[in-house]
Amino acid sequence: MSLLQDCPCGQGQYANCCQPLHLRLKIANTAEQLMRSRYSAFALQQIDYILQTTALGQQTALDRDAIADWSQSNDWLKLEVIQHQPKVDKTHALVEFKAHYCDKNQDEKQQHIHHEISHFVLHQQQWYFLDPTLDMQVTMKQSCICGSGKKFKQCCAQFI
Ligand SMILES: [Zn+2]
Ligand SMILES: [Zn+2]
Repeated sequence: MSLLQDCPCGQGQYANCCQPLHLRLKIANTAEQLMRSRYSAFALQQIDYILQTTALGQQTALDRDAIADWSQSNDWLKLEVIQHQPKVDKTHALVEFKAHYCDKNQDEKQQHIHHEISHFVLHQQQWYFLDPTLDMQVTMKQSCICGSGKKFKQCCAQFI
């Protein structure tokens, strides 16, 4: 990849945008930035980054092969951030977005849109994605998947 390549997330050159996050030279300052960098990670098959930016207690439940497959089987065309609510509460944020993509395995190139409202949690100054699709083994009274030390019920359960 050329250094001057546009970032998949659409915010300028990759080298000045999501690359430093993917290389772990910088951390995302906001949930929106993390969301953008996760989209770019899908586009560029940076699977480790996707795993490592999911809530700590959810990482072992992630299916690496399925994520890699989803990442590779699509052409990621464009990201549109619809809204960012940086403070849903003290440690949670919301990002609504549309990811435009083409399924590489389809004969006809048809554009699809993945429209999602994602929630993010701040833990020790770092943002993590809360994955609503995972089957969580945690009960409401157990400590939260984000590592906050609060009960799940009083923390991230409200957002997934
Ligand atoms: Zn970017
Ligand atoms: Zn939590």
